[in-house]
Amino acid sequence: MTVVTRFAPSPTGHLHIGGARTAIFCWLLARHFGGKFLLRVEDTDMERSKEEYTTSILASMRWLGLDTDGEPYFQSQRMAFYKECVDKMLASGHAYWCSCTPDEVEAMREKARAEGKKPRYDGRCREMGLGPGPGRVVRLKAPLTGEVAFDDMVKGHVVFPAEELDDMVLYRSDDTPTYNMAVVADDIDMGITHVLRGDDHVNNTPKQVLIYQALGHALPIFAHVPMILGPDKQKLSKRHGAKAVIEYEKDGLLPSAILNYMVRLGWSHGDQELFTIPELVAAFDGTSLNSAPASFDPEKLLWVNAHHMRETPAATLVELVKPFLDTTGLAAHDQAYYEKLVSLYQPRAATLVDLAREMRCLLLPAAGLEYDAKARDKALTAEGKAHLAGLRSELADADYGSKEALHEALQRYLESAGAKFKAIGPIMRLALLGSLGGPGLDEIMELLGKDETLARIDRVMSMEI
Ligand code: GLU
Repeated sequence: MTVVTRFAPSPTGHLHIGGARTAIFCWLLARHFGGKFLLRVEDTDMERSKEEYTTSILASMRWLGLDTDGEPYFQSQRMAFYKECVDKMLASGHAYWCSCTPDEVEAMREKARAEGKKPRYDGRCREMGLGPGPGRVVRLKAPLTGEVAFDDMVKGHVVFPAEELDDMVLYRSDDTPTYNMAVVADDIDMGITHVLRGDDHVNNTPKQVLIYQALGHALPIFAHVPMILGPDKQKLSKRHGAKAVIEYEKDGLLPSAILNYMVRLGWSHGDQELFTIPELVAAFDGTSLNSAPASFDPEKLLWVNAHHMRETPAATLVELVKPFLDTTGLAAHDQAYYEKLVSLYQPRAATLVDLAREMRCLLLPAAGLEYDAKARDKALTAEGKAHLAGLRSELADADYGSKEALHEALQRYLESAGAKFKAIGPIMRLALLGSLGGPGLDEIMELLGKDETLARIDRVMSMEI
C-alpha cells in the first residue's frame, strides 16, 4: 500500500502553529513511507475564505520545505464532483431528499431537548421518496441502531453509538455540499490512506465514517492529534508567544528548527530533542504520537533554533541571513569574507535577526563603524589609549595569515608592556567592533586583515576621551 496523506487547510487565516504541526506530521508520514503528500485547500466557505490566506499558507509550506506531490486541489473547483457523489448516494438509497424547513428542524431539536434527548432531526422525510425541489436538502440515511467505530493511531479503537448521530445534511438547498460530505468525497477520490488532523475534528469522524460506508468505501486510518496548549495548559494563543509561521520567518527562525521543534509537540523518539530533517523522515512512522496535549514553549523553540543555526553550513547561512542585513553603508566583501564572518557569529546567534545585527560591525568600513555609547565610556580611557598605541605598532608588523600568529602578536605586546589581557580587551573591542562583546580578537583581526584592523585602531586613537 502506498501511503497517501493530505493537509487540508481552510484559507481563513495564515498558517499557524497547530496547522503547521498537522502539515509537518502528514508530510513526514508520507516521506517516511515513500508515499505521497497532497494539499487540499478547503475553500468552500466563500465568506471566510480569502485568496491572500491561500497564498500565505502555500508560501509558509514552501518555506518550511513541505513539498507536495502534484498541484494543490481547491474544493471550490470541485463542486460538480461533490454533486455526483451525492447523486450516487441518492441512487443507492443511502441518502434522500428532505423538504423540512430550517424552522421545522429547529422545532424538532427543541422538542428533543425538552424531552431531555439529544437534539436531532427526526427522520420524517426518510421514507417519503421526495425528489429535488426549491429549499430541499439531501440527507444521509444513517443507521438507526448499532455502533460507528474507527481505528485511530492516537486514540485507539473509537466507538460511537449510532443513536447519537442523526440524518445529517449532505447537500444544501443552495447547491453546495456540507463540510463532511466534501471531505469524505475528496479523501476517497484522492486515495488518502491516512487522515491525520487535530482532535478538534474527532466529533466529525463518526459522521464521516457513515459517509464512507454509504459510498461503499473502506475507511482510511485516522490519527487525531491532541491540541497544542500554552505553558499554563490553557488553549494556545498569542499571549503564549505563539505566532503564525510567516511571523517566525520574519523573526529570523530557520525552517528546519521550526520543523524540529513542532514535531516534538505531540511525538517523541526516546529522549532525542534535536533532529535533522533526514533524521525526522527516518524516525517518523506515525507511532509514538502522544495522546496527551503538548505545551508550546517559545524559549525551547529559540533553543532549538540556536542549535540549527550552529549546524547549518556557513554558505547556506550567508544566503539566509542576507535578507535580514541592513545594507546601508556596508563595504563590499566577497563570499569568502561573508562565510568566515558568519562562522564567527554562528555559535552565539539565536536567530538570523541576531546574526544580521551582530555581523554588521564587521561589514561596515572603518570610517562608518558605529560605537556603542556605553562601551565607549567604559573603554576609552587614557590607559586604554596608551595600550592601543603600543598595540598598533606590534600589529603593524604582525602576520595576518592566521589567528595563532595574531594571538602571539597580542601576547608579545602584553609581555613587553607587563600588562594583563583585561587591560587591552575592552579598548581593542571598542576599536575593532564598536562594542564590548563578540568573538575573539585574533579571529576578528584575521578576518579584517591588516589595513582594516589598523584603520579601526586609528579611528579610536583619534577620539577625545
Ligand atoms: N479544513 C479543516 C481545517 O482546516 C481540516 C479538515 C481535515 O483535516 O479533515 O481544520
